[in-house]
Amino acid sequence: MNTLGKTITCRAAIAWAKNSPLSIEEVQVEPPKSGEVRIKMISSGICGSDDHVLKGELVVNFPLIPGHEGAGIVESVGDGVCSMKPGDKVLILIIPQCRECDACLHPKGNFCYKQDVLPCSGVMLDGTSRFSCRGQKIYHSFRTSSFTEYTVVPEIAAVKIDDAAPMDKVCLISCGFPTGYGAAVNSAKVTPGSTCVVFGLGGVGSAIVMGCKASGASRIIGVDINEEKFPRARALGVTDCLNPNKLEKPVQEVVMEMTGVGVDFAFEAIGLVDTMVAAWNSCNNSYGVCLIAGLAPSDAQLSLEAPKILSGKTLKGVCLGDYKTRDCIPQIVTDYLQNKINIDPLVTYQLPFNQLHEALELFHSGKA
Ligand code: NAD
Ligand code: ZN
Repeated sequence: MNTLGKTITCRAAIAWAKNSPLSIEEVQVEPPKSGEVRIKMISSGICGSDDHVLKGELVVNFPLIPGHEGAGIVESVGDGVCSMKPGDKVLILIIPQCRECDACLHPKGNFCYKQDVLPCSGVMLDGTSRFSCRGQKIYHSFRTSSFTEYTVVPEIAAVKIDDAAPMDKVCLISCGFPTGYGAAVNSAKVTPGSTCVVFGLGGVGSAIVMGCKASGASRIIGVDINEEKFPRARALGVTDCLNPNKLEKPVQEVVMEMTGVGVDFAFEAIGLVDTMVAAWNSCNNSYGVCLIAGLAPSDAQLSLEAPKILSGKTLKGVCLGDYKTRDCIPQIVTDYLQNKINIDPLVTYQLPFNQLHEALELFHSGKA
């Protein structure tokens, strides 16, 4: 059926309000406008950031179609789109790359001004939505909604990838994998023989562990309250596992004792203020580097002992592994195809779209 220029009716998951179960509905997806692409979604991951959205920890507009970590095939393109064509395999990008803003033009910046995470408007760059359900406007999630059979995103929030890419795996290269792996290898630049601690051993934390291991870290301490995460973390390179709920003292004190001097690199991949402070306090006072990858709730404030900042350690936030997304993400897919990296251990379950509820249950149970 030729859908070009026509509104497509398909299934999508809608969150009508915060903390309400997703409901799979028939939605209308308008054709892409100028500078936009319409994508048939093939595969989507569930990222911790989706969970923050659904729980209302991140302020967003409802109703919306959640999801942002996805792989799909371009169905049609709007006027002026030249970086992809119908039939191309693409990944959607929660952090776009417009190549025009201050962040994109700066050699180190990647937090493109056209992102829609902080804050989340839920609409396209022209201020309107492409989704509706029973005549009601439905908001986008981070301009990338992926829990839908078709989505529309700005051209700058999608990138063409290798035709040989297995879509059921590479969707993780849309967000979770580069976020964690890049935090270690690209942002922190973990050094051979160094000591690391990773708070949170979910999707992002596991990818951080892989990056630390690939960089030659000699000791990687993994911290999680869910011990079911420990066997895989060990298989990926964690040398010591800590469950803060089973320790007699604060986890940062235990990390200090284990290392004697504090770690070279600490990573937070949970999104909680307390674990961000614990990561900071686990670092070596003089040369330690603390990277925050977790997304804290919208109204959260971070409080640190101010005098201790003087001793020289570094606190750094990191988004999408500091990668300029359209420039770097396709290469990560190619590296995967060439067996230079292996994302397969990060895929715990694969379910069809109509079992999205079961997938979310697995995520919430901590089994995924
Ligand atoms: P996840 O749910 O898979 O992993 C979180 C892990 O933290 C789980 O294993 C959980 O058991 C553990 N945990 C929860 N509370 C804990 C506590 N108090 N102490 C120790 N461990 C605890 O989520 P994810 O997809 O890995 O995402 C992690 C964070 O990274 C989220 O905040 C997400 O929003 C953020 N994120 C940031 C970026 C970025 O670009 N910076 C990209 C993707 C995700
Ligand atoms: Zn994500």
